[in-house]
Amino acid sequence: MKKKITFFVCLMGIALLFPVCKPPMQTAIIQKSPTVSPILYSTLYQQYAAEYRALCFQAYNIADFRLNEATRRASARPMAIVLDIDETILDNIPYEAEAIKGNFGYPEGWAEWMEQANAEPLAGAVDFLNRAKGLGVECFYVSNRKEIFKEATIQNLNEKGFPFADEAHVILRSSSNEKQTRRNEIAKKYDIIMLIGDNLGDFDGIFEEVSAKERMDAVNSNSRFFGSHWIVLPNAVYGNWVDVLPGYNSKLKEPELSDSLKQHLKGFRK
Ligand SMILES: [Mg+2]
Repeated sequence: MKKKITFFVCLMGIALLFPVCKPPMQTAIIQKSPTVSPILYSTLYQQYAAEYRALCFQAYNIADFRLNEATRRASARPMAIVLDIDETILDNIPYEAEAIKGNFGYPEGWAEWMEQANAEPLAGAVDFLNRAKGLGVECFYVSNRKEIFKEATIQNLNEKGFPFADEAHVILRSSSNEKQTRRNEIAKKYDIIMLIGDNLGDFDGIFEEVSAKERMDAVNSNSRFFGSHWIVLPNAVYGNWVDVLPGYNSKLKEPELSDSLKQHLKGFRK
């Protein structure tokens, strides 16, 4: 028995000494960034977090409140609501999920997803827009989906119960990504009472083609419009906010992309 204890104590001693002798390579491997998609958690958030669904309801509940307010006052022109489509009224996160699982990126697989025309509505969107229609307010869908997907988009919107899902009200991207020109055309005939989107470019041209800091400054100086004339849906998976992130470079692959982005995290230690 005594022999066994002595042997065990020796083993413990060796074990305690061992970390000193560990090859430095092992530490380096552990510290290396894991090769996971940077959008894994945000994709899961939008598919599984009840908070995400609650935020969608919240956005459309506020929109409904503003709709009631707007339709109580008189307007010389017919009233309209202008909305984005993707991650504003339709959920495209299954495409992002498929891209993570298959290790591919946009535009691969996008046409296949569009042609299925089976994206689900975001929580609260269909009821809200049908209420708007019932109050005599038209809805225009201004999206940067390509024209070639117009038929599939109209079919998707129709089958999910959205009003005004037709040629005249679904306005897709023909040449430029900017949406202000298309909104200006609508504003010539309609009183636009509300804009709804998940990307700041869905609200005003001042947010297009500008840096992360300029976007933030523009949000600060227009804070009064959020929740009144502009209704924002959350989207942590993609958007122009990603393109302007410091350290972001679409040509980088993992883990280099995550390493580049990490350089710009704002911690608290000097
Ligand atoms: Mg969108």
